[in-house]
Amino acid sequence: MNPFIKKVQEALAARGYAPGPIDGRDGPKTQKAVKAFQQDSGLSPDGQVGCLTENRLFTEQLSVISFDGDGSTPHFARAEFACDCGGVYCDGFPAEMNLELLLKLEALRNALNVPVIITSGVRCPTRNAEVGGVDNSQHLFGQAADLYAPGIPIETVAAIAESLGLAAILYADRGFVHLAV
Ligand SMILES: [Zn+2]
Repeated sequence: MNPFIKKVQEALAARGYAPGPIDGRDGPKTQKAVKAFQQDSGLSPDGQVGCLTENRLFTEQLSVISFDGDGSTPHFARAEFACDCGGVYCDGFPAEMNLELLLKLEALRNALNVPVIITSGVRCPTRNAEVGGVDNSQHLFGQAADLYAPGIPIETVAAIAESLGLAAILYADRGFVHLAV
């Protein structure tokens, strides 16, 4: 069972293609569905889910994601991105989270299909300095989030994030990936 293939199968099925059982195995039905999707998308129908195909399969789901009135998305509460100074130096949101980043994190969450833990969202300058962030850190502007997905290698998380157009920096020793728009 390959979790990525499973996500591909789910995305194909959601688009009306027939990848066969959603079992994470790249069998003939999945291959046929991938090729049909590639054909319909103007991509080379080679049956390989490379960057372009992955992008097309997952990124275009962005438009169907809705926001709650308070800036939360289906899988992330706004509070998960609050500055973790705990109200000591700021009120939690010295800047609002970037909308495009939130949409792409939601798409990433959907692609992974497991909980995603945000370890750092927005930071006030004092907290940023405290945790050793660089002076012009994107965290200051709500343009970055550090996260991990339990059970999934951060390399895999980073690869999917990059396919969604996010910039990824791996912090392998600390077990998280920094994603930014
Ligand atoms: Zn703060």
